[in-house]
Amino acid sequence: KLENATLKAELGRATWKFMHTMVARFPEEPTPEERKTLESFVYLFSRLYPCGDCAKHFRGILEEYPPQTSSRNAAAGWMCFVHNLVNERLKKPIFDCNNIGDFYDCGCGDEDKKKKE
Ligand code: FAD
Repeated sequence: KLENATLKAELGRATWKFMHTMVARFPEEPTPEERKTLESFVYLFSRLYPCGDCAKHFRGILEEYPPQTSSRNAAAGWMCFVHNLVNERLKKPIFDCNNIGDFYDCGCGDEDKKKKE
């Protein structure tokens, strides 16, 4: 079957949106288990991402820049950084990671607050 760049790009956009939104909700002070969960997720993701060439290239990035899981800030900063490495390779604009702030909002409200009520 022929490569379809439109579908490949659509999958990429949806995936990045999910990944950045996921780390934007990662705990500010994660437990060792939460840290391990994110780390495992990233490595499992890199084995399963359906675009094989993309996944292979991403595994190369992970070898050089392992996932940062010590805090929400570290995880979000790392995700932004590795996305920029992919942007660079694809000759896309570089995103200013200092402006990531509230860019990724899951729209799921303040679940932490609800739990405490
Ligand atoms: P995307 O790169 O999809 O970004 C979507 C939006 O996120 C942007 O419009 C911008 O608002 C925001 N954004 C951009 N940069 C950042 C950042 N650093 N941090 C936070 N937000 C940001 N495609 C290929 O053709 N070859 C590949 O090898 C390849 N590898 C990939 C590897 C992975 C792990 C993933 C998830 C995708 C890969 N893709 C690859 C797809 C590619 O990265 C893009 O998703 C796709 O080309 C669509 O690009 P886009 O211009 O719409 O923006």
